[in-house]
Amino acid sequence: MSNESCIFCRIAAGELPADIYYQDDEVVAFRDIHPVAPTHLLIIPKRHIATANEFSDTDTSLIGRLSITAAKLAKELRIAESGYRMVMNCNRDAGQTVFHVHLHLLGGRAMSWPPG
Ligand code: 5GP
Ligand code: ZN
Repeated sequence: MSNESCIFCRIAAGELPADIYYQDDEVVAFRDIHPVAPTHLLIIPKRHIATANEFSDTDTSLIGRLSITAAKLAKELRIAESGYRMVMNCNRDAGQTVFHVHLHLLGGRAMSWPPG
């Protein structure tokens, strides 16, 4: 279900501008507006899913597509060998601010662990 008040639904629908790097029938990848690494893309499902808490067994293929897309883009962007991080924040303690599921693809610099 698309949501008119959701900025990522509107980006997926082409109603809001974004620096789109890749899209297909199910997912869109675009550059984060406030990048925290030299490479920082967000990979989202076109279909609105608010948080990982709403994942269901019928989403198996779609959720898989997010990770596979991130891995393909990491190769294209030449961060696959140096390394990268895929991050999906869920709700308050993780710092989720946009309630349309998105996978962060972060790379191009060394990262620390554990995350803050
Ligand atoms: P979260 O904290 O929910 O995991 O991450 C949301 C991310 O979306 C943040 O990194 C933020 O910079 C990014 N973001 C928020 N609004 C926009 C927008 O309108 N366009 C783009 N490209 N990124 C956005
Ligand atoms: Zn949405």
